[in-house]
Amino acid sequence: MKDVKRWLDNFVIKLSINSKPVAGRLRKNSGNVISFLTFSSQYKATRELIELRARVYDDVPEGRIITDANTIIIDVNPAFSKITGYSREEIIGKTPKILSSGLQSKTFYALMWRSLQEQGHWQGEVWNRKKNGDIYAERLNIVAFYDQHHSVSHYVGLLSDITSNKRQQEQLDMLAHYDVLTQLPNRALIVDRFKQAMAQAKRSQTQLAVCFLDLDNFKPINDSYGHHVGDSILIEISRRMTHNIRESDTVSRQGGDEFALLLTDIDSFAHCEQSLRRILDAISQPVVIDDISHTISASIGVTMYPADSDDFDTLLRHADHAMYEAKQSGRNRYQLYNVEQDQLIVFKHHRLLEIEQALLNGEFQLYYQPKVNMLTGDVFGVEALLRWNHPEQGILLPVDFLPIIAGTALEKKLGDWVIEYAVKQLNEWQEIELRPEVSINISSNHLLSSSFFDNLKWVLNEHPLIKPNAIQLEILESSALGDLKAIHDVLERCISELGISAALDDFGTGYSSLTHLRALPANIIKIDQSFVRDLLDDPHDYSIIDGVIGLAEAFRREVIAEGVETTEQGLMLIVMGCLQAQGYVIAKPMPADEFPRWLQNYRPNQEWLECADRQFSPKEKQLKLLKLATSHWHNKFVEYIKSPQDSALAPPIMDIRKCHCGTCITWLKQEKLLKKGSMVFLKQLHETFHQIADSIFHHYQQNDLQTARAELHELQQAFFIMHSTVEQYKTVT
Ligand code: C2E
Ligand code: CA
Ligand code: CA
Repeated sequence: MKDVKRWLDNFVIKLSINSKPVAGRLRKNSGNVISFLTFSSQYKATRELIELRARVYDDVPEGRIITDANTIIIDVNPAFSKITGYSREEIIGKTPKILSSGLQSKTFYALMWRSLQEQGHWQGEVWNRKKNGDIYAERLNIVAFYDQHHSVSHYVGLLSDITSNKRQQEQLDMLAHYDVLTQLPNRALIVDRFKQAMAQAKRSQTQLAVCFLDLDNFKPINDSYGHHVGDSILIEISRRMTHNIRESDTVSRQGGDEFALLLTDIDSFAHCEQSLRRILDAISQPVVIDDISHTISASIGVTMYPADSDDFDTLLRHADHAMYEAKQSGRNRYQLYNVEQDQLIVFKHHRLLEIEQALLNGEFQLYYQPKVNMLTGDVFGVEALLRWNHPEQGILLPVDFLPIIAGTALEKKLGDWVIEYAVKQLNEWQEIELRPEVSINISSNHLLSSSFFDNLKWVLNEHPLIKPNAIQLEILESSALGDLKAIHDVLERCISELGISAALDDFGTGYSSLTHLRALPANIIKIDQSFVRDLLDDPHDYSIIDGVIGLAEAFRREVIAEGVETTEQGLMLIVMGCLQAQGYVIAKPMPADEFPRWLQNYRPNQEWLECADRQFSPKEKQLKLLKLATSHWHNKFVEYIKSPQDSALAPPIMDIRKCHCGTCITWLKQEKLLKKGSMVFLKQLHETFHQIADSIFHHYQQNDLQTARAELHELQQAFFIMHSTVEQYKTVT
């Protein structure tokens, strides 16, 4: 068949049709049909094809560019001009470099040329620059054309503008990696950056800081001014943060008003403190929106890689805990994560839940400690003291759980429970003819809660038989009482409307006892046990108690001493003028059901009672104090010398100018309570007493326990002489 076709092609046939000469060739069609094809019809078809090709070249939206082998542009189509802004005339003779945006690297172009040389074509996406300077994205397809010697003769590029696709893709990328409101990197992106930064930090032996930042007072602004103001603030704060970190650092929005920061290339925590201070400072500058100035601050928690962990979630959680600490310690500050502190917080949190459950389970119980009048021996009241009957740990003291709930809603809830149960108990005792006054400890936080008064009133209404004056509220003086006026008002209402009384607890331990005494309507002062404990040892504590008793008299308040552990302390207090006491020497706190039996078996302290019929003159008072102080000193010294050297016992005050007996002698002298001769003799006896004691003390310290202890009887003799002399002076004028 092919042979027939070739054979026919050998002949050019010339005919005359309608007297016009026509040239052409015979063509073999399908079957045995041979047709005559004129040259002019063949030529027309070819011309049409060329024209069509030209139109396609010109009209398609794809840009085309043809260069010679040296990349000199020799032709472009109108679509190219439309995309790039360069007319055909302008661009011919130039190279495609004119379109370069500078956004592609040298490597990019090197790879492109390698592909063209090795494979004859290349395709990819390129960011180029239009004539007007705009950057646009194009999909580019380049094909190399070769001449008969297989050398490149031309390059033809087909390009289409894909900028809008690119922008959409970028937007999607933005959504996936950036926060829509603030345009800050989101969580996913900071995690990614952390991984890169961690690798870099390993190589450069540097550290990273992961910070958790929370705005301090954002919610109220958002609530009162609306979300659009809140949003504007977040945008502005984000801008300031970005502005105050380095290029290599990342600030990311975690949601709401919480942000995470990744600070890189750090030598130490101190190194990043400067950045943190700058960020805090930038945030705390006022933000003006709709002519209203808003001031906001932030708390930042910080933890370090690699010191802490290499897991981003763990680091962020730790930074969050440290941020919470920063909030707790006053906001507008940063806090470095501390493992021990964190464990304490976790423990506290756990314990808080446990305490809440314990209240529901009925594991709390009130113990009661009697309060007596030392002169009459009367048990006139009890103090309710909270205990936690823990199923595994046994009876727990307030120190184990009250500090954990301090300042929480649970503190008020437990406080209400205490009031309810103490009043209930008082009611039960009344039914068996016991009428002690019950003191209830109240935290200032509880006292200041809005429901305090109503709750107390409600409980009293539930038990109408109880006389309200049998209830006393003990307000801790040592704690920061806070709003004194508010405390005054609620106490005043409790006293005037309900008829109950109030005591200032732990008096003297606060830093403004006198202010409290003046400002609060408490009719009783409770001398703190820390002063009572060392009353006989330390002349300072003696002076404080003496002062408190004087204040109570001046302000016409009653006074009670707590923590009385020995008969001597009681005697001393009686002599000083404090007659009410509470302490282990009388009774330890006990469960309610043990109180009636204890009361039945109770025998007043005889030595205290003996003071009852004595009115002490100032001289008698001082001599009695001297006697108590001297015998206490002597007992303590003997006990010390008899103890092994590694025991924890401390000696009494050895300095003759500072010991309690010496102070008593000075008072006697100052107030001229003794004749001069008696005074001199007393001083000599005291000096001799100390000389003997010093010698014993020296032996003891030199490890010569035998001599030390043998000399004790000598000290005892000196003590007796001093004692009987003091006794004599009582009667001698
Ligand atoms: P507080 O009000 O000063 O109570 C006196 C504390 O001293 C009690 O400790 C008591 O057991 C202890 N104590 C009594 N006599 C002596 C003594 O002779 N020597 C020694 N060393 N200690 C003695 P407790 O029961 O551990 O209570 C400690 C603190 O817990 C109380 O101090 C009070 O501030 C607080 N507290 C106790 N119960 C409650 C309560 O129901 N509510 C509130 N808010 N606080 C309470
Ligand atoms: Ca108390
Ligand atoms: Ca106390």
